[in-house]
Amino acid sequence: MLSDLSFSEMTEYAKRLGLPSYRGEQIFNAIYSAKTLEEVTNLPKAIKDIIVNDYPAYKVLQKFESKDGTKKFIVGYPDGNIVECVLMKYKYGYTLCVSTQVGCRMGCKFCASTLNGLARDLTSGEILGQVLLINRELGGSEKDRKITNIVLMGSGEPLDNFDNVCKFLDLVSAGRGLNISQRNISLSTCGLVDKIKMLEEKDYNISLTISLHASTDEKRKEIMPIANRYSIKEVIDACKSYYKKTGRRIYFEYTLIQGINNSEEDAKRLSTLLKGQNFHVNIIPLNSVKERSLIGTSRLEAYKFADKLKALGISATVRRTMGEDIAGACGQLRNQILKENK
Ligand code: SAH
Repeated sequence: MLSDLSFSEMTEYAKRLGLPSYRGEQIFNAIYSAKTLEEVTNLPKAIKDIIVNDYPAYKVLQKFESKDGTKKFIVGYPDGNIVECVLMKYKYGYTLCVSTQVGCRMGCKFCASTLNGLARDLTSGEILGQVLLINRELGGSEKDRKITNIVLMGSGEPLDNFDNVCKFLDLVSAGRGLNISQRNISLSTCGLVDKIKMLEEKDYNISLTISLHASTDEKRKEIMPIANRYSIKEVIDACKSYYKKTGRRIYFEYTLIQGINNSEEDAKRLSTLLKGQNFHVNIIPLNSVKERSLIGTSRLEAYKFADKLKALGISATVRRTMGEDIAGACGQLRNQILKENK
């Protein structure tokens, strides 16, 4: 698909078709404005006929707006697969949470994305397409693009789709691309240690977020199958190494689940695991998933847990929950829609 191509690759593509390079630039600009091929006015029909099968045909199928202003979009791809992305407005601009796979095969017990397993990986251009489409929704012109920050925290495990995700990072941060600073991009992973090492080698400036959610390997295995492959110690060692190389602070996501990971002992063990490093913990009360019998804690309890961590010398905050009334957590909305369509 043509949105997989960088600017110079697009020029090559045009050349291969025997077209002058400005045609490549026109196609590139059309894609980055998220125009459909019908809406493109500066390409003759003969050229459109040649590129039509390569030209992106993803679109926004549905939109939901939360009371708190968070917006959720369902993006559809021509093969019928759908993913969700979430737009959050902050003081400094818009952050878009993108999906990196259709579904997920990591099997985390609290996560709705993984309920039906992995349907397929998204290509770099399909992930980028989410950003392009939502920029268009925001009325952003080529010079005035509204999305300034990206989090790879939607459905899918980004590091399980390593090459496509890396290419996406290249495209979205390219000067002749969306030019979004890598410092404004955050990648969240359940902790594929071998891939964290590969990411470190890539020398990106992005921040790394680890979904930790437990303070012992035994408990982590109960809720996250990946814990059978890598121990918490291995994950944290990979983080230390990543920090040493990139100087980027590492974030840990800790979703509070009633009776599973919210005890005083958990806070103590967590602080022992993380102390003395440039690490930050985001506490999130679980957004309860109907299909699973796991229950989140109250916000008050989340604040108390964060206070315990802080008293133990760990930098911690409670994450704002956004968009709860629109099935805000990972994969919830897609599942709702898949069910309704059955
Ligand atoms: N696979 C990646 C990114 C997707 S999940 C990862 O594991 O990090 C993004 C974040 O949302 C993760 O921290 C995940 O643990 C969290 N999450 C998933 N389902 C949730 C739920 N029901 N309530 C709260 N957080 C959830």
